[in-house]
Amino acid sequence: MTTSYKHEPFTDFTVEENKQALLAAVKEVESTLGGHYPLIINGERIDTDKKISSYNPANKAELIGTTGKATQDHAEQAIEAASTAFESWRKVDPKERANILFRAAAIIRRRKHEFSAMLVKEAGKPWKEADADTAEGIDFLEYYARQMIELADGKPVHSREGEFNRYIYTPTGVTVVISPWNFAFAIMAGTTVAPIVTGNTVVLKPASTTPVVAAKFVEVLEEAGLPKGVVNFVPGSGSEVGDFLVDHPKTALITFTGSRDVGTRIYERAAIVQREQNHLKRVIVEMGGKDTVVVDNEADLELAAESIVISAFGFSGQKCSAGSRAVIHADVYDEVVEKVIEKTNALTMGNPAEADNHYMGPVIDQAAFDKITSYIETGKQEGRLVAGGDSDNATGFFIRPTVFADVDPTARIMQEEIFGPVLAISKAASYDEALEIANNTEYGLTGAVITKNRAKIEQAKQDFHVGNLYFNRNCTGAIVGYHPFGGFKMSGTDSKAGGPDYLVLHMQAKTVSEMY
Ligand code: GLU
Repeated sequence: MTTSYKHEPFTDFTVEENKQALLAAVKEVESTLGGHYPLIINGERIDTDKKISSYNPANKAELIGTTGKATQDHAEQAIEAASTAFESWRKVDPKERANILFRAAAIIRRRKHEFSAMLVKEAGKPWKEADADTAEGIDFLEYYARQMIELADGKPVHSREGEFNRYIYTPTGVTVVISPWNFAFAIMAGTTVAPIVTGNTVVLKPASTTPVVAAKFVEVLEEAGLPKGVVNFVPGSGSEVGDFLVDHPKTALITFTGSRDVGTRIYERAAIVQREQNHLKRVIVEMGGKDTVVVDNEADLELAAESIVISAFGFSGQKCSAGSRAVIHADVYDEVVEKVIEKTNALTMGNPAEADNHYMGPVIDQAAFDKITSYIETGKQEGRLVAGGDSDNATGFFIRPTVFADVDPTARIMQEEIFGPVLAISKAASYDEALEIANNTEYGLTGAVITKNRAKIEQAKQDFHVGNLYFNRNCTGAIVGYHPFGGFKMSGTDSKAGGPDYLVLHMQAKTVSEMY
């Protein structure tokens, strides 16, 4: 019997002991920097000619480590290994599979600060964000393990006299997991263990900017008793290895989190039935967002400003759930904008490895820095710059939290995902118009409404077209098992990670009818 699920608590770093524990973990991680993590195929460490180098975005000269870099040959070997392992893994008792997840969760909980410190260094995460990322990874393990136990006997169907019917879930096959850098631990771990616990085998291609933390996670799965070949670790480039894995005729399921462009590319390619392929591929894609915090005129304005700032600038806006737009009712517009400016200017920024009190760290790399700063230039044409706007990439990729007010709802910075600390604000003449603006993008991931009016809450429940809708709070920070996460429209397949329907997406339902 397992205990019931409860999400992993966050660490309070104002407690001196916790602060010291994380600082010690950062030191510990620093002593291992520069290590090499080869590919892992069928349990074997494989050397490669080329390597992927992972650097600290807060200090770009600091090498976190290197990993192997897969070629198409390696990708082929990984698919073969996964395909062979599938034949035995699919028959392993689901409860045994779940136990591996429980053991992995226990190992990570014991080494929690080490994983968070790794995220501080490799992804440039402020402590609070790193701690939440590690906690969410633990949650995925704990939650999916329990979900699998519940689904192990399938779901009830009716039997008749002389006929015994069952409805059970069976694994799908080789699963390609392409994971993002922004939740380099949680989403990587969650999208890897969901196929595993459901009896599939995995080829994991982690984000090239954060492959080391993924390598550490694969080591944990091995330590927890995962048989060889069930997870194969193949960092590599999207164009060389990503497409190859997606296109492979033996690939049965693809699970991807990342940009809209890559996600739609995968979705299209997966639809093509290759020679020697005798099944249709399944695809889970979680893509972008252009998420809105709507502020009504009947609202707690302090809460409104707080929610806008947290939604926009947590982890420097590098979340698909980030509230990169605020739409504020005209009656309270000036007051809320003033409060947002004040709160934004109070945010601290710096190298998260050096202090615990920075609210923001760097953005992930030079390409992100260039893209975001170019959007800031666009913003200067499209709106009134009221906070931030400056950036510095001398040692790391730092961009000040930036706010543009008075932006037209159709402007580029109100429509396109920037994935950085840039907030655009529009004014709405009425609550109805605010909801209309909130819906006017191609995305539909998260949203928040700040209002005290019950009728307006009900209205938004029906009309605000997003996968995760929050009231009187920020629009980021979904908790596994509490806020199943995934979006509508071009945000993806609404697969709802961390929710009760997620695991079945990785399985095939089988009806078994027996006469006796
Ligand atoms: N699940 C995260 C949240 O609710 C966002 C995930 C993402 O950015 O990919 O904030």
